[in-house]
Amino acid sequence: MKTDTVVKEETMRMALRTEVSRPTNYSVEREEILNPSLQSLVRMGYQCTFGVLQAGQYGVAQTRRRAIILAAAPREKLPMFPEPLHVFAPQACQLSVVVDNKKFVSNIVRLNSSLFRTITMSDLPEIRNGASALKISYNGEPQSCFQRQIRGSQYQPILRDHICKDMSALIAARMRYVPLAPGSDWRDLPNIEVRLSDGTTTRKLRYTHHQKKNGRSSTGVLRGVCSCAEGKPCDPAHRTDRQFNTLIPWCLPHIGNRHNHWAGLYGRLEWVGFFSTTATNPEPMGKQSRVLHLEQHRVVSVRECARSQGFPDTYRLFENILDKHRQVGNALPPPLAKAIGLELKLCLLAKLREDAKGNVDFPPGTDNRVVLGVAGSGCVTSLSANFNDIEYEGEDIGRKSKPHDEA
Ligand SMILES: [Zn+2]
Repeated sequence: MKTDTVVKEETMRMALRTEVSRPTNYSVEREEILNPSLQSLVRMGYQCTFGVLQAGQYGVAQTRRRAIILAAAPREKLPMFPEPLHVFAPQACQLSVVVDNKKFVSNIVRLNSSLFRTITMSDLPEIRNGASALKISYNGEPQSCFQRQIRGSQYQPILRDHICKDMSALIAARMRYVPLAPGSDWRDLPNIEVRLSDGTTTRKLRYTHHQKKNGRSSTGVLRGVCSCAEGKPCDPAHRTDRQFNTLIPWCLPHIGNRHNHWAGLYGRLEWVGFFSTTATNPEPMGKQSRVLHLEQHRVVSVRECARSQGFPDTYRLFENILDKHRQVGNALPPPLAKAIGLELKLCLLAKLREDAKGNVDFPPGTDNRVVLGVAGSGCVTSLSANFNDIEYEGEDIGRKSKPHDEA
């Protein structure tokens, strides 16, 4: 189908494909997408432009950088990228003032970041690990303008999909022992024996080797958990060194030195922070690992993830909980889609005005309608005239390397 305007969205990794590790669960090798996409659009006669947008600048409490291609047919006006709506230039935020030789400073600290914060989900009621009730009551009023807006207009407010994945007894215990202090993650786990909800008890992690490669302890205390810490190869298949059922997952101190100590795994969100890029499957040991609620011992709910993407609470998701997470995590955030859509609208209106002036007839068969197309992970597939009903499609794009399977 030949369209007038094309918008294509892609993750940075997919678009630029630099030195990413090859996923084992995908048979198709990832290739750079940006150049071939631009080339084929140009060959088809489109005008194109390429840019990187940060969704956090368009009204979501999430960092999400995406490569966007905009293209327009020769007779159309090529849209611009939308201006950020929610970040202000740091140099324009000098808010202290000197009066009578005294300096007065305001209490404002968030000068260099997005307006929206994780706090956008603070009105959602408390739930437990594995909560599965599809419809519950909000149990309270919205606490901010954003919360009021994102709840949408409902005749009888019902909170849907505030459900979260049911993690195993061992993972649930780890989540319980990650402190509530901001910035906590697996490195704050105590090395203790804990009785689990399934009746079993965890073991203490034993440090069995000297950490020669990365600094031996001055007191002679063992710091390594595998023979590789002493510069030897790991034992085959980790038969002797590997430990199971420990509160501190063995695999994390194992090769942590090579991976920035796996910072952020089993990490909690922060009220004053924002979401890291919303995952298609929240896992405490996954790529987007800060997925623990700030005050509750569970991973984020589907509804919390949907809010982090800017979906109104009235937006319906379908199938099982993993499908719902995937639908949310693969989407282009609606507020970003809206910002791009409004740019397209401006171009169309300008074109209509020009055509009206010149009294140009449209060729037969064209209706000057915007159609957004082109497949890709989480791309916008259609956009209605009022930019409120946005449909998405997408697929899981796989994961980056992760520590060994959960021990
Ligand atoms: Zn090893």
